[in-house]
Amino acid sequence: MEGSLTFLGTGTSMGVPSLGCACAVCTSADPHDKRLRPSILIRWTEPETEPGTGVERSVVIDTGPDFREQALRAGIVRVDAVFYTHGHADHILGMDDLRPLSFAAMRESGPIPLYAAPDTIAILEKIFDYTFRPDATYINRARVTLEPLEARTTVHGVELARVPVMHGAQHISGFRFGRAAYLTDVSAIPESSFALLEGLDVLVLSALRHVPHPSHATLEQALGWAQRIGARQTWFTHIAHDLGHEETNRTLPANIRLAYDGLSVPVTL
Ligand SMILES: [Zn+2]
Ligand SMILES: [Zn+2]
Repeated sequence: MEGSLTFLGTGTSMGVPSLGCACAVCTSADPHDKRLRPSILIRWTEPETEPGTGVERSVVIDTGPDFREQALRAGIVRVDAVFYTHGHADHILGMDDLRPLSFAAMRESGPIPLYAAPDTIAILEKIFDYTFRPDATYINRARVTLEPLEARTTVHGVELARVPVMHGAQHISGFRFGRAAYLTDVSAIPESSFALLEGLDVLVLSALRHVPHPSHATLEQALGWAQRIGARQTWFTHIAHDLGHEETNRTLPANIRLAYDGLSVPVTL
């Protein structure tokens, strides 16, 4: 099945520009240097029995603090499921902005499933206590359900496989879908996960900056993994203000590039 992957945000946790910063990238006039918090949208048309009656489906990976703005920009009018990589603020704090979409989903088919590992579910339950507490009574709470993330999950005909990666000392989730994969906040890729990343057309990998960080890959580390995995095209995301779009891309191989907000690429799901 053919679909698309859209970068809703490609910035690091603070976003770019970073508040109060006057560096060259934060003050750059290049729109590619404006990066919201990291998230992607996967869209496809689910084939129906009657030709021409396919239904548009969409899955979002992570709902960070910029989710509302990103959804407006990308024209998101429905979300069929959300998958969470981990429970850090830059990946989850926009969950509440699913509310209007969840009311629509509820009328059509039921609550929006949110797939996450147990530690991420625990954080979501704590932060959004007014949504998930069994006795929650807030009338306008999001109509969403927390679903334990399995090794493989199928959403309207598209399978998402969990790809375990390390984020500092934390085990977090990357995802493979068809011939594409999304791995963010990566500091190490376990050997066993490389086997899940064979034969990719599109690889998205986080690459923070040049200076080492305890829980994120540098551009150089990410480049090494990208070359080992050997996807036809690799896009870097979760980018800090240390990396200017144009000047960094000039240093990279032709099939490895910094992604940017709003970029949409075709994927085979
Ligand atoms: Zn992050
Ligand atoms: Zn993180």
